[in-house]
Parts: sequence; structure tokens; C-alpha cells
Amino acid sequence: MSTVLSAEECKQCGHEDADSEFDCRTYKTFMMCCRCGYGETWYRKYDEDGDHCGWKHEITRGVGVLWYRDTGESAFCSQPLSTSKNVLAAESWLREQIANGSIEAETAEFWARMREQHGGKSMAKAAITS
Ligand SMILES: [Zn+2]
Repeated sequence: MSTVLSAEECKQCGHEDADSEFDCRTYKTFMMCCRCGYGETWYRKYDEDGDHCGWKHEITRGVGVLWYRDTGESAFCSQPLSTSKNVLAAESWLREQIANGSIEAETAEFWARMREQHGGKSMAKAAITS
């Protein structure tokens, strides 16, 4: 399997370094913004004979992204969040993980949309501390 990685501008928040991935075998295209969590996916559709007959396009709105690194690990993890309920649950989960030592507190942060009244484009980076 071969993929092409690139960066593109997020259609929701305007962040210029949203991750984009194109699968050369399946033609699936996936984009996720590492700042607001907005995502788009394009899939090929096939008819009953297996012939390509169109595309399916899915859009997931983003209200934030949770970033953290597990204690003792080198790779960062990210979790896009699509509802305010997701943000509250993620923050609660993150505080528990920091308290029990599973996650390094200094690596944990949220990129979350804080003020809907400012056109939904006001983003704030918030560090989580225990
Ligand atoms: Zn974005």
C-alpha cells in the first residue's frame, strides 16, 4: 500500500497545516485538522459489478483536539473531538490519566474551540495540569 501525505488548509478554522493522506490503491482521501478536529473523507463507491460508480464524501465537524503522550513513550497521540460532550469527557479522562501517572502532564493539551460567538474561529490552546 502506498500513501501520499501532504498538508492543506483546514476548511473550518483556516489552519494551514491540516494533515491529508491519499491512498494510491483505494483512492481514499482523508484529511484531519490537528488544531480544531475537523475532518473529511472521500471514498470510492462501487456498483454490484464492482465498477467504480461515484464517491462518498463524509465531513466531521471539529470542536477541538486532545494531544498527549503516554508516560515513557516517545510518540504523541491525538484525538479529534466533534461535540462539546466529547470535549468534557476527554478533559475528565485526561485529568484521570495525569493523576494516575499514565500520561505526562507537560505533554497534555487541548486545542479547543472556546467561543462560538466569535464565528467559531477563535481557538485557544489550553494546557491541562493536574
Ligand atoms: Zn481546523
